[in-house]
Amino acid sequence: MKNPKFTRFSRSIVFKSLLLLVVSMIVIVSIGTFIFTQRLTTTALDYNFNTNKFQLEQLYSSINNEIEQFGSRLSLLGKTSEIKSLDAIVAASYLKSYSISSLFASGETVSLYDRHDSLICDNSLLGASQMSYPIEFAKISPHRPYITPWYREANNTPQKVFAIKVSDPTLGDGTLVASFTIRRIWRYLSEFKVGQKGFAVVVNAAGEILYHPDLQKWMNGVHKVSELGLENFDGKTYESKVAHFQQLSNEESYLINYMYNSAYDIGLLSLQPKTEIDSFTAYIRFIGILLFSCAIFAVLLVSLWLLLKLGRPMNHLIAHISQITDGNLDVEEFDVGNRKDEIGQLSKAFNQMHGTIKRQITELNAHRQLLEEEVRERTKELEEANKKLDRISRTDDLTGLPNRRDMNETIEHEMGRSARTHKPFCFIFIDVDHFKQVNDTYGHYCGDLVLKTVAQTLRNQLRRYDVLARFGGEEFLALIPESNLEGALAVAERFRKQVESVSIPYGELLLKATITLGVSQYDPKLGGDRSIQMADRALYEGKESGRNKVIAWDPARTTEEDYKLAAIEMAEAAKIKKAQKRPAN
Ligand code: GH3
Ligand code: MG
Ligand code: MG
Repeated sequence: MKNPKFTRFSRSIVFKSLLLLVVSMIVIVSIGTFIFTQRLTTTALDYNFNTNKFQLEQLYSSINNEIEQFGSRLSLLGKTSEIKSLDAIVAASYLKSYSISSLFASGETVSLYDRHDSLICDNSLLGASQMSYPIEFAKISPHRPYITPWYREANNTPQKVFAIKVSDPTLGDGTLVASFTIRRIWRYLSEFKVGQKGFAVVVNAAGEILYHPDLQKWMNGVHKVSELGLENFDGKTYESKVAHFQQLSNEESYLINYMYNSAYDIGLLSLQPKTEIDSFTAYIRFIGILLFSCAIFAVLLVSLWLLLKLGRPMNHLIAHISQITDGNLDVEEFDVGNRKDEIGQLSKAFNQMHGTIKRQITELNAHRQLLEEEVRERTKELEEANKKLDRISRTDDLTGLPNRRDMNETIEHEMGRSARTHKPFCFIFIDVDHFKQVNDTYGHYCGDLVLKTVAQTLRNQLRRYDVLARFGGEEFLALIPESNLEGALAVAERFRKQVESVSIPYGELLLKATITLGVSQYDPKLGGDRSIQMADRALYEGKESGRNKVIAWDPARTTEEDYKLAAIEMAEAAKIKKAQKRPAN
């Protein structure tokens, strides 16, 4: 039995599709993860930038509101009768009163000036003092507060001075002045959050730091934005339109947003450390890679499972089928256990088919054996019938002797043998004497009886290799192999004597018969037929000279004419034989 044929692993369609699945999954997920992680950095940057921008806008409006409120409150204060009185005692006590002082932060001074720009009073508990910043009183209007640039008193806190005209039709004009310290907006700034670690820095157009959450370091004197690392900073024109990281002097990179309020010369910087954003993107990337690995692992698991559950049994089934195809029908049933799925159904159907084929082939084999047996029997019968037919076709009905056709073949054969061995052979031509008379006197039936008896008598005289045939009506021809004329003459004489001695009972009668015999030796130059004719001539002479005789043909009596005719006959016969041998077109 041949080895079972397994499909080569590399040719398996299951293997190929799984390979394709795994490779395409790996490619898709890899590209996906690559794009995702690539986009992640810019997306995270943009996201944080926009979030921080929003937070900064909130801060901006809170601070703007606070400052506007401060201005409005100052205007309202300037409209009160106590202040309008421009009276030092009335106004001072009013400014120091609890309801007013609570509107100002500690360290903020509120002062009242007369129309000569001389200090009337302020809100300090210990006498009034002149503000250090030079106020340009001429520019102050009653409608909108006049605001100075940022400056610093001895206490170092950045502040601005707000001033508004106080006017009364009867008492005349004065000026109400209040300082606005940056501390007023500290709570917004300290509460401000961008991300977990981001913070806000307040600057002015000149690039001076007005607020930094690290108060110890940045709020003890005048510090410039350039110290932070932002070179050539101009508060009015600095822009942070595009999200990007900028490295500052502390070697850390920050995502910076910036807004500038020109009305109050307040620039707001929000700074979020790059490390924070990086750790966020690193976390997301880790999750992405983890998911990618899980997906690949799941695909590999599914592939392995499919190979085991689908590829392997399919391959075994193919090998099993190939064994059956090779003719090994006796292989055991294909076993996949108790599976109810497609493979289970397939192997069940296959086993049923195998059973059916096996049964049918067994039946076919049995049937074929029967047929073969029958064919053998029929062939045997046919062969026997053929043999019988052949025998019949070569046998004379009446005497049971070989007929002329058979004798001709024997003569052909003997001529060939004689040509090879150069041994002579002879013909004895025999004719029953006055046979017509037997027929005429006793009838045909009696004639037949005489013929049969003569034939039987002659046959009894034959030696082992002699052949006797009925050659015509009451004529017989004997072929005496390996014999010269002399030997044949002795045989012929024996024939004659034996027939002469036989009595043939017919009814109450005892009939007698004689024969006349002509003997000739086969002459290759004359051929078979002409040699027999010579025996016939001798026979004729026997008849002529009284019958019941044996006459030998003396070859010397054969004429040139005989040889010539024989040559023509043999040439014609050879032609006919050649034509018969040629295959029919
Ligand atoms: P001869 O001595 O000269 O030979 O005389 P014959 O009468 O024998 O010669 P012929 O040739 O005239 O006669 C032969 C007869 O043999 C003629 C024919 O009717 C008869 N004959 C030939 N074949 C058979 C046969 O099978 N059965 C019978 N009963 N007669 C036959
Ligand atoms: Mg005759
Ligand atoms: Mg005769």
